[in-house]
Amino acid sequence: MSAECPECGSKVELPEDAVENEILECALCGVELEVISLSPPTLELAPEEKEDWGE
Ligand SMILES: [Zn+2]
Repeated sequence: MSAECPECGSKVELPEDAVENEILECALCGVELEVISLSPPTLELAPEEKEDWGE
């Protein structure tokens, strides 16, 4: 099962146990993607969260 990355258009493979609202990462462009729907598999850019990356 795969869906299209809305950022770069590449195919992103979804895990077999993927669930809605799961966050995936595009292997090509590295953006975080949220699983919006599973039938058909649909991805959207995940909302950016302010995470502390320890700058
Ligand atoms: Zn991408």
